[in-house]
Amino acid sequence: MKCSLCDKEAVREIPYMKMYLCREHFIEWFDQRFIRDSKRYRLFENSKRVAVAVSGGKDSTTMLHLLSQASKQLNIEIVGLTIDLGIDNGTGYSRKSVETAVKNFEIAHVKYKVIDLGSDYNFTIDKAKRGTNRPACSVCGLSKRYILNAAAEEMDADTLATGHNLDDMAQFIFSGYVYGNLESLSRNSMVNPPERGYCVKKVKPLFFTPEGEILHYAILRGYPFIYDPCPYSSEFGSVSQERIGDMMKSMEAKMPGTMMNMVKTFEKQIRPALHDIYSRDEDVGRCKLCGRPTTKDREICSFCSIKNKLAAKQ
Ligand code: SF4
Ligand code: ZN
Ligand code: ZN
Repeated sequence: MKCSLCDKEAVREIPYMKMYLCREHFIEWFDQRFIRDSKRYRLFENSKRVAVAVSGGKDSTTMLHLLSQASKQLNIEIVGLTIDLGIDNGTGYSRKSVETAVKNFEIAHVKYKVIDLGSDYNFTIDKAKRGTNRPACSVCGLSKRYILNAAAEEMDADTLATGHNLDDMAQFIFSGYVYGNLESLSRNSMVNPPERGYCVKKVKPLFFTPEGEILHYAILRGYPFIYDPCPYSSEFGSVSQERIGDMMKSMEAKMPGTMMNMVKTFEKQIRPALHDIYSRDEDVGRCKLCGRPTTKDREICSFCSIKNKLAAKQ
């Protein structure tokens, strides 16, 4: 198949645009769309310093390079953040993730900070897996949220960017409909202002970018990223969520563009309506141990509770 814009062989079909693109036009179109979407959805309006959370996987690595390339046009400064979560389980997963993230920060000439769960907070996800009855992903998710918010504030960033892609969003939205998690759907946006006691705005610049396109782009650009899955990834989400993910993929294969339509309709029409119903000023408390935000009914935040529980077992 020929490229829709020149005579070269196409390397990628963009079904929802009814386009085929050669290597050069795919890269150019991908770069331009990133800047266009960032401006159209006002992701960085009033942002000065953006902390980019990088795990070493294809999504966050690609986001780092796109933001670094576009920083002048978007008028923002970029700083990098990565966390050594202490996930090994015989695979060296966290060591490889951090090494890859650091390699990319250096290639992109971005200042960065590595937060080490083991030495900075005295526990690791491996220890939590052995020492609590909570699933590894639940402790990992709450630790990442806590640390990224705290580290972004410490680095004087006003914005935190994460690498969630279109496929993640489609699965989250569909599962929210199935299980009726309307309140969390109402907060699932490409851009969330600082709220509930947090000081940084959260943005997801790849919200409308399909996972397959990100992978293809990262390979064509030659970015180093890790392919290995986390050894606990089979625990990620419930079996039913995994089935929802599979169902979304087979719908996309039969009707290309389904995920894009679903996420666009959600962001344009459904989320604003949900937001009107569920947005309210929530009373925020402060954790007695670390001083960071917590819900009004908790004296100690969930992160400090886990940390203390594991310390008591040592
Ligand atoms: Fe953390 Fe689970 Fe993701 Fe592994 S799969 S990095 S444990 S959230
Ligand atoms: Zn072309
Ligand atoms: Zn705390």
